Order: sequence, then structure tokens, then C-alpha cells
Amino acid sequence: MPRLILASRNVHKAKEIATILGNQFTVQTLANFPAAPEVVEDGETFAANAVKKAVEIAAWLNGQALGQARPDLVLADDSGLAVDALGGEPGVRSARYAGDEGNAPDTANNAKLLHKMDGIPERQRGAQFQCVLALIALGQAAQATMFDGICRGTIARAQTGKGGFGYDPLFIPEGHTESFAELGSVVKNEISHRARALAKLAEHFIEG
Ligand code: IMP
Repeated sequence: MPRLILASRNVHKAKEIATILGNQFTVQTLANFPAAPEVVEDGETFAANAVKKAVEIAAWLNGQALGQARPDLVLADDSGLAVDALGGEPGVRSARYAGDEGNAPDTANNAKLLHKMDGIPERQRGAQFQCVLALIALGQAAQATMFDGICRGTIARAQTGKGGFGYDPLFIPEGHTESFAELGSVVKNEISHRARALAKLAEHFIEG
């Protein structure tokens, strides 16, 4: 099976990606490569950040003497929540929405979002999770192949559920009445933005 390394230290994303792709790829994470550099996510778009993460991690891996441990593919995920009534916020700032510098805890990001949505009526609470994936084959020119996925839904008035991560307790996907955090990983991994982008990636490999 091809060895794919996820250019991320987000354990939740890694778990979702490994669950969805696990029977087609051997999925590794940067936990296997603790000396890998931290990539600064300063792009203005999900695509720019995903490419930056994949290119920088691929360049670092190409410079290492890894022998048999060399992965075949580097995959970067950049993702976030875009809320209609907030003009697409928090968008690329999803992880650091409530932070002055760097990432903020999920609880603080969710509290800030709820506060901003205070008084916004039901019909204007639309939002979408977006995921952009950048895939690079190691040892070749750093040309990234891109895949994307969107999941539409609404922002709830209070957090519910214990599963998932990030904004999952506030996001009710279209066609459901419970949040991603209540629906759990089996449902989420069928319909999420990440699942949809990963389905395109898997199709790309089947098409060869
Ligand atoms: P990134 O690691 O810079 O791509 O940050 C992604 C951020 O977007 C996360 O920290 C979450 O706040 C949010 N996010 C992305 N995907 C999800 C998801 O599947 N559920 C909940 N929040 C998500």
C-alpha cells in the first residue's frame, strides 16, 4: 500500500483521514517525524495554506535520509468554517478565531462564534465547512494536486454533543437536526467537507 504522510499535527484531522483512507493507504502523521518544521499558516486562502504545508513538509522529507521509512505521498489539509452572516468568517482564521496570537482553544473559538451570532435569526444562520487538500508525490517536482470538499449546514444556538473537534458542537449539517458532535464519527465521515475532498482524492487514484 502507498505510504501517505499527513502534513499536520492535528490529531483529530489525522484520525478522520486515517479512518476514511485507511484501507487504501498506510497513513502516517508528523508524530512519526517530530523534527519536521512548523509551517506558518499565513495564506489568505485554504488552498494557499494547504499548498504551503505540503510543499514545505515535502521539501524537508526530501532532504532527510529516511531509507525504507520514506513516505510516498505528502498530504496537507487546510480547512475551516465559513459563516454566511459573518461574510465568511472565521474562514482561514478558524483555528485562531479567539486568539490574539496563534491558535485558541476550541471552547474559546466556539464561544466567540456564538457571541457573534447572537440575535441572528434561523434563516440567516447558514454556514459551510470547507476543506482543501494538497497532495505531493515525494521525490518528484513539488507539484501539488488539489482536491476540495464543502459541507453546508447551520450554526446552532448552543453547543451540543461530545464527539468531533473544533466547531462540531455548533454545526448542524444539512438534512440533520443534530450537530456533528452529536451525530458522531460514522455519520460525520460520510458527509463532511473532509470526507468529500478525500473521496475525490481516492477517485483520482482509482482513475490512476
Ligand atoms: P487548520 O489546522 O489551520 O486547517 O485549522 C482548521 C480549524 O478549522 C480547526 O482548528 C477547527 O477550528 C476548524 N475545523 C476544520 N475542520 C473541522 C471539522 O471537521 N470540525 C470542526 N472544526 C473544524
